[in-house]
Amino acid sequence: NTSGVIYLTFDDGPSTYTYQILNTLAKYNIKATFFVTKAGSDDAILKEYQQGHTVALHTYTHDWNIYQSVATYLDDLNKVANRVKSITGVDAKYVRFPGGSSNQKIYYRSNNTITIYDLINALNERGYKYFDWNVSVEDAGGCAYVSSKSACVLNNFKKYLRSNQENIVLMHDIKSYTAAALEDMIIYGINNHYTFKAIDDNTTPVHFR
Ligand code: ZN
Repeated sequence: NTSGVIYLTFDDGPSTYTYQILNTLAKYNIKATFFVTKAGSDDAILKEYQQGHTVALHTYTHDWNIYQSVATYLDDLNKVANRVKSITGVDAKYVRFPGGSSNQKIYYRSNNTITIYDLINALNERGYKYFDWNVSVEDAGGCAYVSSKSACVLNNFKKYLRSNQENIVLMHDIKSYTAAALEDMIIYGINNHYTFKAIDDNTTPVHFR
């Protein structure tokens, strides 16, 4: 039964704000999931791992050119996988596509011959599981363009959470206002009887397609 569960997931980091997020999570003894890139310090990834969070793979470069071919995608993924392995000693098992698996960027390229299904098959063959999301706080979208950014993030979190489902929440730990909003998000979740979990093998992946 995964209803009323919140999976906080952070993409595009680590960054300097990751430490603030880790401190807030530790204060409430909540575990989360970080889909990391080549950005930020190795130390931040090590702390994510040591503090019991799930370290997962997003992309090394976050450049849309990774979608040129299966080979270019896997080359990029292997680079971030190697980074995580060298820091934590562990093979990461979970992946999030830049843009998600409904990513239209893959189709915008006139010179590519692949679809997202080719990449999904490549991940499956290698034993990876991929995760999209069903709650977005829009911290890289609409909330980036308003004056009260943290309030916008918090409002979207409250608006899109559903108590009768497993909520996989997309956020970005490269955003100061997301780090600033996190404690109020956690308090809201606790007060409304949600359970917070990190992604593991028992998590049912959310897939756009
Ligand atoms: Zn991203």
